[in-house]
Amino acid sequence: MATMYDMIVIGAGPGGYVAAIRGAQLGLKVAIVEREHMGGICLNWGCIPTKTMLRSSEIFHLMHRASEFGLSAENISYDLEAVVKRSRGVASQLNSGIGHLLKKNKVEAIMGNASITSKNTITVKSDKGTTKLQGKNIVLATGARARELPGLEADGDLVWTYKAALTPTRMPKKLLVIGSGAIGIEFASFYNTLGSDTTVVEVMDHILPVEDEEISKFAKKSFIKQGMKILEKASVKKLDRLKGKVVAHIEINSKIEKQEFDTVISAVGIVGNIEDIGLETLNIKEERSHVITDKYCRTNVEGVYAIGDLAAPPWLAHKASHEGVMVAELIAGMNPHSIKPENIAGCTYCYPQIASVGYTEATAREKGFNIKVGRFPFVGNGKAIALGESEGLVKTIFDAKTGELLGAHMVGAEVTEMIQGYVISKQLETTEQDLMGTVFPHPTLSEMMHESVLDAYGQAIHI
Ligand SMILES: Cc1cc2nc3c(=O)[nH]c(=O)nc-3n(C[C@H](O)[C@H](O)[C@H](O)COP(=O)(O)OP(=O)(O)OC[C@H]3O[C@@H](n4cnc5c(N)ncnc54)[C@H](O)[C@@H]3O)c2cc1C
Repeated sequence: MATMYDMIVIGAGPGGYVAAIRGAQLGLKVAIVEREHMGGICLNWGCIPTKTMLRSSEIFHLMHRASEFGLSAENISYDLEAVVKRSRGVASQLNSGIGHLLKKNKVEAIMGNASITSKNTITVKSDKGTTKLQGKNIVLATGARARELPGLEADGDLVWTYKAALTPTRMPKKLLVIGSGAIGIEFASFYNTLGSDTTVVEVMDHILPVEDEEISKFAKKSFIKQGMKILEKASVKKLDRLKGKVVAHIEINSKIEKQEFDTVISAVGIVGNIEDIGLETLNIKEERSHVITDKYCRTNVEGVYAIGDLAAPPWLAHKASHEGVMVAELIAGMNPHSIKPENIAGCTYCYPQIASVGYTEATAREKGFNIKVGRFPFVGNGKAIALGESEGLVKTIFDAKTGELLGAHMVGAEVTEMIQGYVISKQLETTEQDLMGTVFPHPTLSEMMHESVLDAYGQAIHI
C-alpha cells in the first residue's frame, strides 16, 4: 500500500520548501513535489539573481564615483556575460542548498509535475513515469509567472520578461520598461546604471504605485537625475516589432506617441499557476488566477491549503515562507497566529533603495486616522554623509490618538536592511514612546529612524 503522508506540498519555492521543512521539524511525514527547480522563482529567477545583478551595477556606479572617495579607477567597464554568470552561479548554489536542507530534514523530495486527482491523492508525472501519492493534507504552493498583456507578449528577443532580462546576451541601447512596480524598477535601475537609455512607463499617477507618494516622488527625482525617463499616467497600447527594433505606441494625455526601442521589458504583474493542478477536481475556488483562502491559508476544501504567490497578495517571498510555517503548524495541531498583511515589508533594491511597511500617508488618512508624520533626510545623518549617500528620506506615520506606529517609508542607501526595525516595532504594536526611548547606536543610518519618530512629535535633534 502507498505511504500515507501527513502533508504533501506541491511546489518547492520559498512557500513550499519552508512549509515542508517546518512540517518535518514538527514530526509530520512530508513529501514535496517540484517540477523544475528547488527554491522556486525566488531563488532561481526572482529575489536572488536580481539582487546579484544589482550588486554588480551598484559597484559599477560606485567605481564611477571613485574620485569622491580619494580613489582612482580608470577604464571602468563590465563584462555582461560574467555579470550574468555570477548571478546564475549564486542562484544554483542556493538551489542545491535547498535540496540538502530537505534531505537533512527527511522530507521526501520528488521531481515531477503534480496535480490533485482525487481527495487525498496527488498524481506526479515525470520522465520516469506516473506515480500516485496519498496525503492527509495538501499544500498548494505552485507560485506565479509573469503576466502578459495582449499585444505586448514577450518573445525573448526584443520583448523580455524577467527570465530574459536576467540572462541578457546583449546590452539594450534603448530600453523601454513597462510597469514600475518593484520588478520593473529594479530592472530599469540595473540597465540604466550600466548605460542603457531607459524609459519607464507607468499607467498609475506615480511610479512604485504601492509606495507612499512622497517617497515615490523622491525616487523619481533621483532616477531622472541618473538619466532615466519616467512617463506616468501613460500606457503602452501596442508594440510594432520590426527588424531589430520595436515601435511602442504610448498613450499620454489621450494622445498616442510613437517611440523606438531596441528592447522592451514587460513587468506588468503576475498570474497564479492555477492550471493543471487539479483545482477543478475538488472544486477549489479561485479568483483571477489566485486561490481563495481564509487568513490561515485554508481553501474551501478541508485539508487543502494554498500559500505564497498562488494565494492572496502581497506576492513576496517572505510572505510565502511565513505562510508555509503557519500552515505546517496548523497541520501539526498547533495554534499559530495568522499573518497581518500590513506588517509585511516591501523592498525595492534599485538605486536608491526603497522600503516600507504599513499604511502610506494617503491610506492612513483614507482610513480616518488623525495622524502625526515625521521626516528625516539622509543629509542630516553623519554615517550617510561618511558613506557618500546623503540622498534619502525616512518618513514615519503615527496615530495621533494612540501613538501607534501606522507606517514607515524610506528611500536611500541600505533602507532594505533598516526596515526590519520598523517591522518589529509594528509587530509588537510599539508606540512613539517606546521608539523615542530606544537608544540607537552611533554612527548608523538607523539613527534616522529614531530622528524621524522624534520629528513626528517635534523633537528631532539634527534638523
Ligand atoms: C524578477 C523578480 C524579482 C523578485 N524579487 C523579489 C524580492 O526581492 N523580494 C521578494 O520578497 N519577492 C521577490 N519576488 C517575488 C518572489 O519571487 C515570489 O513572491 C516568491 O517566489 C513566491 O514564492 P512561492 O513559493 O509562492 O512560489 P514560487 O517561488 O513561484 O515557486 C513555485 C514552485 O512551484 C513549482 N510548480 C508549479 N506548478 C507545479 C506543479 N504542478 N507540480 C510541481 N511543481 C510545480 C514551480 O516550478 C516553482 O518552483 C521577485 C519575483 C521576480 C519575478
